[in-house]
Amino acid sequence: MTRVVQRLGWSLVAIAASVTLTSGANAIELTYGATALEETRYLSLNLAGRSIGSEKGEETVTYLNQRLRDFGYAPTEQSFSFERAGETYDEVNIIAERPGTSGKQIIIGAHYDTAPSSATLDRSNLQGTNDNSSGVGVLLELAQRVSAYEDARHSFKFILFGAEEVGLIGAEHYVENMSEDEIDNTIVMINLDSLIFGDKLYLNAGPSAANRSSLGRYRDIALEIAQELDIAAETNPGLNPAYPAGTGCCSDLEAFDPVVPVLAAEATNWEIGDLDGYTQTSDPRVPDGRTWHDPATDNLEFIEEIFPGLIEERTRDYTLIFDTFLGRVNSGAVSVPEPASVVGLAIAVGLGGLFTRKQQGPK
Ligand SMILES: [Zn+2]
Repeated sequence: MTRVVQRLGWSLVAIAASVTLTSGANAIELTYGATALEETRYLSLNLAGRSIGSEKGEETVTYLNQRLRDFGYAPTEQSFSFERAGETYDEVNIIAERPGTSGKQIIIGAHYDTAPSSATLDRSNLQGTNDNSSGVGVLLELAQRVSAYEDARHSFKFILFGAEEVGLIGAEHYVENMSEDEIDNTIVMINLDSLIFGDKLYLNAGPSAANRSSLGRYRDIALEIAQELDIAAETNPGLNPAYPAGTGCCSDLEAFDPVVPVLAAEATNWEIGDLDGYTQTSDPRVPDGRTWHDPATDNLEFIEEIFPGLIEERTRDYTLIFDTFLGRVNSGAVSVPEPASVVGLAIAVGLGGLFTRKQQGPK
């Protein structure tokens, strides 16, 4: 694909079908997980400390825009501002879309920021290999693979969210600006956050699925796909009543859960610690069994030392599951219900289940 075509994105690529096919043939031959792994490593090594307001954060935004253009998209930025501890921050979500013809869309999201430094911990070198270089890496490979589809039945909207670590601010901003039409026509929001470090690979629905089982439909399809692919995947068993079986929490998915079905991916272990998904492993070599937001442990070297090969394995497995999922929804092999707003229901259900949760920061 020429540089000019890449810059102009899909409006032109759709016309120049032969260009799309050439690009597609290349993308399909890629080894599963290769791009996801490469990008996970790149963000870890070159863009550590990409918290709100940081230079690395800005560099990350430039880099991600470029990668999406490389894959044939014409990304746009959605800006938002907020105050935190007396400072004003200007951050962005990065949005890249492959338009489809059905009028419906699938959102695939991952946050790119890392947790900011606190009074007691300097996080300017936080690689965030698990949280969330991994989600960004898998998102980029999915975007690359979707760019190779000959036809897009539904639109695929890839969103890299800013300011997740300080309260899901980028995702909340996106949801607040969704029109009723966009909400009604969103099939599912797939959230990719912290995909590597943990004893198990999970696929969860949003909290609302606890009260309306049909919202767990896409989780169940993804679990079936994992089984077919021989990938060990589980869903939150619900040992803690504050986090009902089959549902996840504590990331951008919670911004979307009140309005659209959610399918959330994360590696952790929901059966240990406080049974809240925050304790990731029972391996005694990991302090407190968790790596969240800790520069000493959420990095390539530590993860590779404790679980050799896991970075490669998990990025590949999640890429495989979601590429298969997206391909089946797009081909019609997975049917999509007619849009029906879940907003009314979400209001009726309220925030049931949240009240007994321990105060924890976002993942
Ligand atoms: Zn995260």
